[in-house]
Amino acid sequence: MSRSRFMLGVAALALVAGNADAARVSLRIMETTDIHMNLLDYDYYQDKGTDQFGLARAVTLVKAARAEARNSLFFDNGDLLQGNPMGDLVARVQPLAQGMVHPAYKVMNQLGYDAGNIGNHEFNYGLPFLRQALAGAAFPYVNANVYVDERAGGPEAGKNAFAPYVILEREVADDTGQAHRLKVGVIGFVPPQIMQWDRANLEGRVTTHEIVATARRFVPEIRAKGADLVVAIPHSGFENGETAASTENAVAGLAEVPGIDVILFGHAHAEFPGKQFAGHPKVDIARGTINGIPAVMPGRWGDHLGIVDLMLDDRSGRWQVVDSRASIRPIFDRSAKKPLVEADPMVLAAIGDEHRATLDYIRGKVTETTAPIHSYFAQVADDPSVQVVSLAQIAYVRAAVQGTDYEKYPILSAAAPFKAGGRQGWGYYTDIPLGPVAIKNVADLYIYPNTLKAVLITGAEVREWLEMSAGQFRRIDPQGAAEQPLINDDFRSYNFDVIDGVTYEIDVTEPAKYDPNGKPANPGANRIKNLAFDGRPIDDTAKFIVATNNYRAYGGGNFPGIDAGKVVIDAPEENREALVRYFTANPTFNPAADGNWRIRPVPGISLRFLSGAGATRYLASNPSIRLVRDNGDGSALFELAR
Ligand code: MN
Ligand code: MG
Repeated sequence: MSRSRFMLGVAALALVAGNADAARVSLRIMETTDIHMNLLDYDYYQDKGTDQFGLARAVTLVKAARAEARNSLFFDNGDLLQGNPMGDLVARVQPLAQGMVHPAYKVMNQLGYDAGNIGNHEFNYGLPFLRQALAGAAFPYVNANVYVDERAGGPEAGKNAFAPYVILEREVADDTGQAHRLKVGVIGFVPPQIMQWDRANLEGRVTTHEIVATARRFVPEIRAKGADLVVAIPHSGFENGETAASTENAVAGLAEVPGIDVILFGHAHAEFPGKQFAGHPKVDIARGTINGIPAVMPGRWGDHLGIVDLMLDDRSGRWQVVDSRASIRPIFDRSAKKPLVEADPMVLAAIGDEHRATLDYIRGKVTETTAPIHSYFAQVADDPSVQVVSLAQIAYVRAAVQGTDYEKYPILSAAAPFKAGGRQGWGYYTDIPLGPVAIKNVADLYIYPNTLKAVLITGAEVREWLEMSAGQFRRIDPQGAAEQPLINDDFRSYNFDVIDGVTYEIDVTEPAKYDPNGKPANPGANRIKNLAFDGRPIDDTAKFIVATNNYRAYGGGNFPGIDAGKVVIDAPEENREALVRYFTANPTFNPAADGNWRIRPVPGISLRFLSGAGATRYLASNPSIRLVRDNGDGSALFELAR
């Protein structure tokens, strides 16, 4: 407040100096990004409402933010049409009929968006579907770096596949209420990597150019056409370090392109300005700038609204940004765990039919399991609930590496039991009977909204990963008591990663090699025995791709040698979505564990563990496990065969 009064003083001085036309215009620019079809505040994987995401809640923020501002513009950055079961429904299951408006635009056309950018996921359902969907948008779309492939021939060959930019003409009111015409150039970008990620949909049809080079080409053209202001909407994140020419995350490089006034970014599903980006020399967290350019990235799924407030001044003879402040507004208070806004009822009113059709879809059968999927024995034996996650992760990563340099490496998968009773209660297990499986069952198989990552590591690192996992077990004394408890209850089950694609045994008579911080506690110990790939002892120097989640890949659980630097597949998709894709692609599947690992029996010792009493139903299919007694409190005591 005090700052703008000071600035006003400067303007008054300019007036005295003789520039009678000088005016000051405050302009608020708002952004949504990576909505991923989360139009409503509904979690279709869990089949229940949520207060933590959904454009419907962000709409409430939009209306408030707009009401506060004299002048405002509103943009969406893309990754809009794909990402939840409603997106799949209208693209694939009950495809949108010609001439029908996509549910995303039934909502967004009522929100006064000024323009939209095309995200990488917009290409997931193919170009014809994208064109069909975009035809329903009542606002213009931009993308400057996708071109019609020369090989496609025809008059469009080599030209921009979409409008590279638009110049919006808007009437704005200055501080005295006087009207001015403002020309706002808007340019959009998508990661050039869509050619790999969606090769099947795009090859031979379109090509992509680098983001920064494309900006250097078009921004001067937009300026030459009289734009007073240029807003760049890259569907791209902020890279840490140097901007490689073909980078997926190009915002730091883009912020150095002359003529760009505002950057509305996304793709990384992160929050800018935010602590995550502090300490970078190009970033000012307090003002929300990158290289001095105001910039914002409002998270994902409608969980934040991005706001860039500009003060424009035409003292110099043209409109210039003389002050700026970028911020994000959340719909949910994470520390207080409380919603900050209610959903706007307009959204459900607009797409109630699509919502009900999506509920039918997620509650109906998508696939059929030929074996029960339960997690009662997941901590002591290879297990179907962990196996099915690995099947889905491997399928996802295999598709993702196709046509890349990583195609040549074997793909392994790490997954852990999430619902493993114990402190969460003796009923807290996955237990899906043989037969139909619905999309809403997916949350039962994968309770965390993790995103899928894959790391490239050596055979030796695979072994250390498993050594860390093996901290799940207490040390068994082969000369000790005839009955010994097996599970270390202090070790969280979600850190008990099973790795599929290799075979191994766990020798619990050795001490755990690592402490909970991933530091060698017993450096000479080796619980992992007979680790083999393809039937032969693993080559310590060979490289493997291991599918996992963002938690593990970014260092969660302190697994030795696993960190962000090893990530080669950095997917924004959830592991849950990989499961949905796997189910959709397989009308029936067999989740039976393949027995790729086991706890090596200790002769003469009964290795005992507790599980839910529900586990007794599954003893017949687990001959290595015997019931000792039902405790009558929901738990039962079991032992591994001696
Ligand atoms: Mn996204
Ligand atoms: Mg297995």
